[in-house]
Amino acid sequence: MLAKSNSTRRDSVVVIGLGRFGASVARSLVASGHEVLAMDTDEDTVQSLAAELPHVVRADATDLGALKQLSVTDFSHAVVSIGANLEASVLTVLNLAQLGMKDIWAKANSPQHGRITERVGAHHVIYPEADMGERVAHLVTGKMMDFIEFDDGFAIAKTRAPMETHSKTLAMSNVRKKHGITVVGIKRRHQDFIYAKPETEIKPGDHLIVAGPTPLIEKFSALY
Ligand code: ATP
Repeated sequence: MLAKSNSTRRDSVVVIGLGRFGASVARSLVASGHEVLAMDTDEDTVQSLAAELPHVVRADATDLGALKQLSVTDFSHAVVSIGANLEASVLTVLNLAQLGMKDIWAKANSPQHGRITERVGAHHVIYPEADMGERVAHLVTGKMMDFIEFDDGFAIAKTRAPMETHSKTLAMSNVRKKHGITVVGIKRRHQDFIYAKPETEIKPGDHLIVAGPTPLIEKFSALY
């Protein structure tokens, strides 16, 4: 069991529900050195993750007493990754909110699910399937190699440098003025990413990291 402390652990996370999403969140957090308490009601799930997650316990997060016993409020963040069982998801968020958890992230399978978890105390709602679906749609239908969109229709994408930019500096090709997007970084084969500067020359085969409104990013990527 984790050592108890009176103060809140910085960047320590309780992950509740270890399905594909929750287990992946927990693994990534552990890999990046964070303290993680992972829990699931299913003994087989707990056993199967014991080798990868240093602190994984079988517990029912709808049980307020169990959460208190595990001192979950010593952790700075909670991720509730229970999708299919709406009642368990909502009760878990409610319990965490009642205990005074300051940063609760809840995975939701639908907008209705998301709204309910927000109502009962989730500070952030994540829609992994919907978000990934949207992202893949952009990648499949467009020329982008990677794509992240923010709430306000602003996106960052990795795209191939279009011909019109080849063998010119960014200042010469003037893509910001012509296309309304900003080149923020360049990746050249076998080299690390570099920050884009006005004097940076684009070479055929370069990959560009571009930022701007989503429709303009899509148009720019389609130039290749
Ligand atoms: P996935 O991330 O695989 O898509 P999912 O959205 O289908 O998961 P569920 O199957 O509902 O989500 O739940 C994920 C995990 O949460 C399961 O391993 C389940 O045992 C666990 N779980 C369900 N209820 C509770 C609870 N009350 N307390 C802790 N863990 C729970």
